[in-house]
Amino acid sequence: MKVRGQNSCFESRDYDLPPDLAWNLLKNTIRILDFPVMSEVSEKYSLIIQKETTQISILIQETASGCKIIADAMAKGIRLFDWGQSTKAVDKFYDELERQITLHKIAGQKKYCPQCGQSININANFCEYCGNRI
Ligand SMILES: [Zn+2]
Repeated sequence: MKVRGQNSCFESRDYDLPPDLAWNLLKNTIRILDFPVMSEVSEKYSLIIQKETTQISILIQETASGCKIIADAMAKGIRLFDWGQSTKAVDKFYDELERQITLHKIAGQKKYCPQCGQSININANFCEYCGNRI
Protein backbone atom coordinates (compact mmCIF):
# COMPACT_ATOMS: atom_id res chain seq x y z
CA MET A 1 0.00 0.00 0.00
CA LYS A 2 1.36 3.42 -0.96
CA VAL A 3 0.03 6.85 -0.01
CA ARG A 4 1.64 9.89 -1.60
CA GLY A 5 1.37 13.45 -0.33
CA GLN A 6 2.94 16.61 -1.73
CA ASN A 7 6.08 16.23 0.37
CA SER A 8 5.51 12.90 2.04
CA CYS A 9 5.14 9.26 1.15
CA PHE A 10 3.89 6.34 3.21
CA GLU A 11 4.32 2.78 2.05
CA SER A 12 3.82 -0.65 3.56
CA ARG A 13 4.88 -3.95 1.97
CA ASP A 14 4.50 -7.54 3.19
CA TYR A 15 7.32 -10.08 3.11
CA ASP A 16 7.53 -13.79 3.93
CA LEU A 17 10.51 -13.24 6.24
CA PRO A 18 10.84 -13.43 10.02
CA PRO A 19 11.26 -9.91 11.51
CA ASP A 20 14.81 -10.50 12.82
CA LEU A 21 16.02 -11.57 9.36
CA ALA A 22 14.19 -8.63 7.74
CA TRP A 23 15.90 -6.33 10.26
CA ASN A 24 19.37 -7.61 9.26
CA LEU A 25 18.58 -7.17 5.57
CA LEU A 26 17.21 -3.70 6.32
CA LYS A 27 20.46 -2.75 8.07
CA ASN A 28 22.44 -3.93 5.00
CA THR A 29 20.15 -1.91 2.76
CA ILE A 30 20.65 1.40 4.53
CA ARG A 31 24.40 0.80 4.74
CA ILE A 32 24.60 0.21 0.99
CA LEU A 33 22.39 3.23 0.24
CA ASP A 34 24.48 5.32 2.65
CA PHE A 35 21.37 6.57 4.47
CA PRO A 36 22.67 7.87 7.83
CA VAL A 37 20.76 6.53 10.85
CA MET A 38 19.40 9.31 13.10
CA SER A 39 17.93 7.05 15.76
CA GLU A 40 17.30 3.36 16.24
CA VAL A 41 15.37 1.05 18.58
CA SER A 42 16.57 -2.48 17.72
CA GLU A 43 14.16 -4.25 20.09
CA LYS A 44 11.24 -2.68 18.26
CA TYR A 45 12.79 -3.04 14.80
CA SER A 46 12.41 0.66 14.16
CA LEU A 47 14.77 3.36 12.97
CA ILE A 48 14.86 6.80 11.41
CA ILE A 49 17.19 7.61 8.54
CA GLN A 50 17.88 10.90 6.86
CA LYS A 51 19.20 11.51 3.37
CA GLU A 52 19.66 15.14 2.40
CA THR A 53 16.32 16.75 3.29
CA THR A 54 14.27 13.54 3.37
CA GLN A 55 13.65 11.76 6.66
CA ILE A 56 12.29 8.22 6.61
CA SER A 57 10.89 6.35 9.62
CA ILE A 58 11.05 2.60 9.08
CA LEU A 59 9.28 -0.02 11.15
CA ILE A 60 9.09 -3.81 10.90
CA GLN A 61 5.98 -5.50 12.28
CA GLU A 62 5.47 -9.23 12.62
CA THR A 63 2.51 -10.67 10.70
CA ALA A 64 0.98 -14.16 10.42
CA SER A 65 2.91 -14.84 7.18
CA GLY A 66 6.17 -13.06 8.06
CA CYS A 67 6.46 -9.32 8.42
CA LYS A 68 5.38 -5.95 7.17
CA ILE A 69 7.95 -3.25 6.43
CA ILE A 70 6.60 0.26 6.73
CA ALA A 71 8.42 3.34 5.41
CA ASP A 72 7.08 6.79 6.24
CA ALA A 73 9.01 9.57 4.51
CA MET A 74 8.81 13.32 4.92
CA ALA A 75 10.75 16.00 3.06
CA LYS A 76 11.96 18.74 5.41
CA GLY A 77 12.09 22.37 4.37
CA ILE A 78 9.57 22.25 1.57
CA ARG A 79 10.58 23.79 -1.73
CA LEU A 80 8.79 23.31 -5.00
CA PHE A 81 11.57 21.19 -6.50
CA ASP A 82 11.49 18.89 -3.45
CA TRP A 83 8.07 17.56 -4.29
CA GLY A 84 8.32 13.92 -5.10
CA GLN A 85 11.71 13.62 -3.40
CA SER A 86 10.33 11.60 -0.49
CA THR A 87 8.62 9.20 -2.91
CA LYS A 88 11.92 8.72 -4.78
CA ALA A 89 13.76 7.99 -1.52
CA VAL A 90 11.14 5.40 -0.53
CA ASP A 91 11.26 3.73 -3.97
CA LYS A 92 15.06 3.58 -3.78
CA PHE A 93 14.82 2.06 -0.30
CA TYR A 94 12.43 -0.75 -1.34
CA ASP A 95 14.38 -1.45 -4.56
CA GLU A 96 17.59 -2.04 -2.61
CA LEU A 97 15.80 -3.91 0.20
CA GLU A 98 14.24 -6.31 -2.30
CA ARG A 99 17.60 -6.78 -4.00
CA GLN A 100 19.04 -7.74 -0.58
CA ILE A 101 16.16 -10.18 0.01
CA THR A 102 16.74 -11.81 -3.40
CA LEU A 103 20.50 -12.11 -2.73
CA HIS A 104 19.77 -13.68 0.64
CA LYS A 105 17.38 -16.22 -0.91
CA ILE A 106 19.90 -17.14 -3.62
CA ALA A 107 22.66 -17.58 -1.02
CA GLY A 108 20.33 -19.84 0.98
CA GLN A 109 20.03 -22.18 -2.01
CA LYS A 110 23.72 -23.01 -2.07
CA LYS A 111 25.25 -26.09 -0.52
CA TYR A 112 28.84 -26.94 0.30
CA CYS A 113 30.96 -29.86 -0.78
CA PRO A 114 31.72 -32.00 2.32
CA GLN A 115 35.16 -32.92 0.87
CA CYS A 116 36.63 -29.58 -0.30
CA GLY A 117 34.22 -27.08 1.25
CA GLN A 118 33.54 -25.15 -1.98
CA SER A 119 30.11 -23.65 -2.52
CA ILE A 120 28.28 -25.63 -5.21
CA ASN A 121 24.90 -25.62 -6.94
CA ILE A 122 22.04 -26.96 -4.82
CA ASN A 123 21.10 -29.47 -7.56
CA ALA A 124 24.62 -30.76 -8.28
CA ASN A 125 25.35 -34.48 -7.91
CA PHE A 126 29.12 -34.02 -8.16
CA CYS A 127 31.35 -31.26 -6.85
CA GLU A 128 32.59 -29.16 -9.78
CA TYR A 129 35.85 -28.41 -7.90
CA CYS A 130 37.05 -31.78 -6.64
CA GLY A 131 34.70 -34.25 -8.35
CA ASN A 132 33.40 -35.63 -5.06
CA ARG A 133 30.02 -37.35 -5.39
CA ILE A 134 27.46 -35.47 -3.30
ZN1 LIG B 1 34.49 -30.61 -3.63
